[in-house]
Amino acid sequence: MLQQTQVKTVLPRFKAWFETFPTIATLAAATTDDVLKAWEGLGYYRRARFIHQAAQNIIFDHHSRFPSTFEAIMALPGIGRSTAGAISSFCFGTGTPVLDGNVKRVLKRWHGRPEVSDKQLWLLAQQALDGSGDPASWNQAMMELGAIVCSAKFADCDACPVRACCASAFQVVYAAESRKTLPVRNVHWQVHLHTCPEKGIWLTRRPDSGIWAGLWTPPIVELERAPDAAPTYIHQLTHRRLYLYPLASEHSPQGEGRWVQSIERYALPTGIHRLLEKVIG
Ligand code: SF4
Repeated sequence: MLQQTQVKTVLPRFKAWFETFPTIATLAAATTDDVLKAWEGLGYYRRARFIHQAAQNIIFDHHSRFPSTFEAIMALPGIGRSTAGAISSFCFGTGTPVLDGNVKRVLKRWHGRPEVSDKQLWLLAQQALDGSGDPASWNQAMMELGAIVCSAKFADCDACPVRACCASAFQVVYAAESRKTLPVRNVHWQVHLHTCPEKGIWLTRRPDSGIWAGLWTPPIVELERAPDAAPTYIHQLTHRRLYLYPLASEHSPQGEGRWVQSIERYALPTGIHRLLEKVIG
């Protein structure tokens, strides 16, 4: 949950998640809709699909036991080398490094090598870890150092425990480290609202890939250009800005979908919730 989502957003959801899925077996047995519903509002829904698939892999391929080797952990859906390094060092004491964004930044500054490649960074991370004697504590310390002391916005070298051996101590220049920003594309979507007092609202399930994959929305048609009217709601994603234009439709809905009386039971994207609040209340 913490990949790409802030701690304060995750905390209440983490608790609720474990109330819904207290064990790996309950998660594995859940439907995709239930999992997406429990993830609603956290964004990056691919993570929910991965954790669901990982739970099923653990039940069916690992005899309901969480795997204990780095290779087997990394083979689970959604778990990359850095996350596998974290899990296996924290839980099983393996000497496997973590290399998330915070650790990368610390290593680059520590060695005074801002342009070093990821391949080199993995070697530097492994070397440092090998000399630590306690991989779990070391990995956590490096992550905390990058998150709290040597952050992207401010390097608090006065308070840093490694300032005596850091090549960049008291020399970090932020302008030189400014983040690369990817372009944001504007997308204009007409959202067709079929509503009926007896039946509710017509929802369709989004395709399994792309924006809002697998979530439920009213039918959406992408417009070639922005209409003259202002959008009713603008929803910001990482690389897309969605301009939403509701259209009350009097025709019967076409294609696959279903009438829904109570949308609370379905996983809808936050952008659609906001739009419906504005239009329907
Ligand atoms: S001394 Fe400064 S630049 Fe070096 S790791 Fe510590 S906070 Fe970062």
